[in-house]
Amino acid sequence: NPMKDRITDIGPRNYEEFYPPVIKNNKGKWLYHEVLQPGVLVHVSETGDEVYTVRVGGARLMSISLVREICEIADKHCGGYVRWTTRNNVEFMVDSKDKVQPLIDDLQGRKFAGGSYKFPVGGTGAGITNIIHTQGWIHCHTPATDASGPVKSVMDEVFEDFQNMRLPAHLRISLACCLNMCGAVHCSDIAILGYHRKPPMVDHEYLDKMCEIPLAIASCPTAAIKPKKVEVGGKTVNSVEVNQSRCMFCGNCYTMCPCLPLADKEGDGIVLMVGGKVSNRISAPKFSKVAVAFIPNEPPRWPKTAETIKKIVETYAADANKYERLGEWAERIGWERFFEKTGLEFTHHLIDDFRDPAYYTWRQTSQFKF
Ligand code: SF4
Ligand code: SF4
Repeated sequence: NPMKDRITDIGPRNYEEFYPPVIKNNKGKWLYHEVLQPGVLVHVSETGDEVYTVRVGGARLMSISLVREICEIADKHCGGYVRWTTRNNVEFMVDSKDKVQPLIDDLQGRKFAGGSYKFPVGGTGAGITNIIHTQGWIHCHTPATDASGPVKSVMDEVFEDFQNMRLPAHLRISLACCLNMCGAVHCSDIAILGYHRKPPMVDHEYLDKMCEIPLAIASCPTAAIKPKKVEVGGKTVNSVEVNQSRCMFCGNCYTMCPCLPLADKEGDGIVLMVGGKVSNRISAPKFSKVAVAFIPNEPPRWPKTAETIKKIVETYAADANKYERLGEWAERIGWERFFEKTGLEFTHHLIDDFRDPAYYTWRQTSQFKF
């Protein structure tokens, strides 16, 4: 145990302190698990112990009062233990079956003022679990779209599939608000990707005062930035220029130099990708492919993005075989049929995305550019 002999109190406490007793006592002894109903799992140990998990949808950004309420529920039903999943679900665990229904009733009975669930139970099995997502306009500097806004709008549209398990298989949705891709958009059934479509603007007046020019140049993965002397207010200053035809709008330079901003109201928007997965069940893991080249940002409810995703989900639900993931279904029927059935337009922006396994973006060739 690498935590046992540590001599510093820097960093988080030893995770073993947070195990519920039933988990600690049965470590390495679990035999199997089942999904009993949407949002409820049982894990059975070789010792005969059982642990029941009730999963509820959460949000990536939570108020302190909501977190306090979660802790109160954990104190009341679960001996003070609670866990967050990587998809921002909250899991309440109990060690006997008779504790499950009172916990579910308590969770489902808690509502926001408008009447919607505070703690909707679901997100397991052949359905849609919470959308994993990134920082968005609230926290990061390079987003081409928001994170929490589109995620909330899409989850509202597909909420029934969080509560049931009617789909052929798991359907994982992810969002990354730029192509630095802090979310799992490269390997999700449906991925929402924020995309810039314009190169950075250069603020010559301040660049040399605020940025390390060699660092800005080195930050560009396509070598699109080079040094340049420019005239500003009658004075010659050190700055840079961007070779626009080499730029793939990644925003790395802006991370290093705030005088190279590339956020743009018309240029920024959403790309939808489909068909990726991590699982190797039925077929090997797959990268996502671009299916919709651009949808403008439409805050606060992103109607086109939500409606397009709903359409893909419904077509998959109606047409795929049981256990087939979205990408497996599309490959079986053929990608041409995928576009026909979902009603999505196949445009020239998608063409080379289906040939190159490295990066599924049309910005790799000189033929296809906005
Ligand atoms: Fe920031 Fe991009 Fe990550 Fe979004 S995906 S949080 S914009 S680096
Ligand atoms: Fe280079 Fe990316 Fe900046 Fe374009 S946005 S200049 S590709 S670092």
